[in-house]
Amino acid sequence: MTQIYNKVALIGLGLIAGSIGYAVKRGGMAGSVVGYARTPDTRATALELGFVDAVFDTAAEAVVDADLVILCVPVGAMSDVARAIAPNLKPGATVSDVGSVKQAVVEAVAPHLPDGVHFVPTHPMAGTEHSGPHAGFAELFDNRWCLTTPLDNSDPQAVERLEDFWRGLGANVERMEVEHHDLVVAVTSHAPHLIAYTMVGVADDMERVSNTEVVNLSAAGFRDFTRIAASDPTMWRDVFLNNKVATLEILGRFTEELFALQRAIRKGDGQKLFDYFTHTRAVRKSIIEAGQDTDAPDFGRGAPKET
Ligand code: NAP
Repeated sequence: MTQIYNKVALIGLGLIAGSIGYAVKRGGMAGSVVGYARTPDTRATALELGFVDAVFDTAAEAVVDADLVILCVPVGAMSDVARAIAPNLKPGATVSDVGSVKQAVVEAVAPHLPDGVHFVPTHPMAGTEHSGPHAGFAELFDNRWCLTTPLDNSDPQAVERLEDFWRGLGANVERMEVEHHDLVVAVTSHAPHLIAYTMVGVADDMERVSNTEVVNLSAAGFRDFTRIAASDPTMWRDVFLNNKVATLEILGRFTEELFALQRAIRKGDGQKLFDYFTHTRAVRKSIIEAGQDTDAPDFGRGAPKET
């Protein structure tokens, strides 16, 4: 692998930043990686784990001389960190982010950045339900998609350089319009998370099903909802508050489909249910064929880790 940037600064040092740091080192993508996180604890942990070479007490200090700055904080914190780093950004540097929502992040970050700095938003479509610096690992982005959403005035060379960087981290790269991105992820990620949160809430609220039954018998589908519903509350609160329009549109469609299936069950319309489930099974097959999941019974996750 060839080095693409001299100095990379990661603002926020959790799951995504940690995984970037490890993957940068694995691929030799940068001369050095430095970072900043809000709490001294997280900064010390990141340094000890070794996915950054140095940490700083402020975001503004961390970005000095960096060729690439990646904002890896929750979507709701993007504006504040962009404002904080703006005066110290090197002319010609690229600023990017990994936020799960793009329109709101563009609006939060772009106004703070000085002329001569290139802003190229991205969204790596990879993650786990774990968060914090211990959650990162070098393989997170391998064969996953990283969406870039260049702006009309984005410098083409800066965009291509950043895309090469993400390929070096193991990802497949695709460009997308900002607005289209937010709709796509509302379908593929945001609405499913809300449904999982709701289903776990419903099960927890059922007085006729004891907690022990829910926990012990959870292998039958519910287990996967609990995994998703264990995702970071701050991150997901910010996602829904900042991708309101697209998420509400998808949830509206979801509710219509749910009512249709509810009606089929009430009317005993087995054909409707069978046809629907045959179609959705084909969707699953195409995800596996695209190499985006495995058909192993445990979804390729292996035995649960002892924690
Ligand atoms: P994470 O593991 O919870 O890490 C978040 C980091 O941001 C922590 O280092 C935290 O520092 C720092 N932080 C939080 N609030 C801050 C603030 N107000 N000012 C400065 N630093 C702050 O989160 P993550 O999963 O890596 O997610 C980071 C970003 O990636 C989010 O925008 C998310 O939408 C996006 N993303 C996540 C996933 C996923 O599956 N997790 C996938 C793709 C994209 P402290 O520890 O010191 O509080």
